[in-house]
Amino acid sequence: MRIRTLCPHCRELAIARTSREVSRTMKEIIYQCTDAECSHSFVVMHEAVRTLSPSAKPSAAVSLPISQHTRDRVMKQLELIG
Ligand SMILES: [Zn+2]
Repeated sequence: MRIRTLCPHCRELAIARTSREVSRTMKEIIYQCTDAECSHSFVVMHEAVRTLSPSAKPSAAVSLPISQHTRDRVMKQLELIG
């Protein structure tokens, strides 16, 4: 599967050409616009920003905030128990 986004200049499809891991939660991706007249190439930062459902195999190297939605759901479950 190819990772795609829109070119910020001409709004045509842009395709990921290369990527590198900056950290466990961030990746840098270089995109190339498919419009021959534009040919813009640009860098996108792809970052995991919050947890929706906690990992069953958590890594001590990763610290992501828990989404408010998940926090509210867990608090409701704790209220039901208590
Ligand atoms: Zn373009």
